[in-house]
Amino acid sequence: MAKILVFAEQSNGALKRSSIELLQAAAKSGGTVAALVVGSHAGDVTTAAAQNGASEVHVIKDASLDGYNPEAFTANVAAVIEKVQPAIVLASASSTGKDLFPRIAAKLGAGIASDCVTLNISGDTVTASKPMYSGKCFANVNFQNTSMKIVLMRANQLPVAAADTSKTAAVTEHAVIKPDLKTLLKEIVKGTSEKLDLTEANIIVSGGRGLKEAANFKVLNDLADVLGATVGASRAVVDAGWVGHGMQVGQTGKTVAPSLYIAVGISGAIQHLAGMSGSKVIVAINSDPNAPIFQKATYGIVGDALEIVPKLTEEFKKALHH
Ligand SMILES: Cc1cc2nc3c(=O)[nH]c(=O)nc-3n(C[C@H](O)[C@H](O)[C@H](O)COP(=O)(O)OP(=O)(O)OC[C@H]3O[C@@H](n4cnc5c(N)ncnc54)[C@H](O)[C@@H]3O)c2cc1C
Repeated sequence: MAKILVFAEQSNGALKRSSIELLQAAAKSGGTVAALVVGSHAGDVTTAAAQNGASEVHVIKDASLDGYNPEAFTANVAAVIEKVQPAIVLASASSTGKDLFPRIAAKLGAGIASDCVTLNISGDTVTASKPMYSGKCFANVNFQNTSMKIVLMRANQLPVAAADTSKTAAVTEHAVIKPDLKTLLKEIVKGTSEKLDLTEANIIVSGGRGLKEAANFKVLNDLADVLGATVGASRAVVDAGWVGHGMQVGQTGKTVAPSLYIAVGISGAIQHLAGMSGSKVIVAINSDPNAPIFQKATYGIVGDALEIVPKLTEEFKKALHH
């Protein structure tokens, strides 16, 4: 049975969905699952890690690991991995994961596959696939000449089932290592948005070129406010400078999997679908009844978005604020 270590990311004491995906995938493969959590809130997520599949939880509870510092994280995470000796290490292809794990791979002489979208674990054999050339083709990756395999998975690629509240895990606390740092995190300046990041959002309202101009994103923001949703966009409107790149959904943007995705004035190009077709319910609003998005949509509304969206906002307001 392979030992699989999952580097579990948490935010203010809650496990990130992307890490829950990895824990559950590791548990499903039949391996022994160890989770590693760091930061001053690390102790708060041991139960969640256990309930999502970890039988061992390794914790480094220290405020020096709250903000990402490449040197501090590399020293601490590599030390635990060396102690646990997993055959497989899973982590998210988040900005932290993509910076940290190449360093760990180099330090430990492990193989690494980054930015993967599929994952197959059978015993200690791992295969994964990753998009190349902006998703024009996929590379299947397996490992050779290494006893440790590191896979970084994009968020929202693996299913998440309900946690098993009967499960518990052995918790091991590790002392923090404080190397002499060459760089120091001085301050984190939060973005202005109060909304959840697209990859974590449960409801997304996304706009495309059918909105005609940047100012019309206001109708989407109004709808999103009523629904508690996050606003996304197609690449066409990002390229046009209507909204920032952080809002782009699709192959070269974010991959999302909300419960509800409302696509407004978006044609449904393959590269857009690649980022959102994992959504549970898709609602499309488009003036063209033949728009490809309708083939993916659970519900479709044919008509002018600028008339329909404000009406929906009014109706949701009535329905949700009773
Ligand atoms: C390598 C590569 C990577 C790419 N990556 C991405 C990506 O990550 N994300 C992404 O989104 N795209 C991506 N694209 C671009 C993609 O191919 C499409 O060009 C883009 O998604 C189109 O955006 P759109 O649907 O907003 O615009 P359009 O395709 O122009 O569609 C606009 C839609 O609005 C409808 N419409 C017009 N007026 C109204 C109205 N009044 N009310 C309602 N509907 C209306 C039209 O019928 C049409 O269906 C990529 C392309 C390439 C080549």
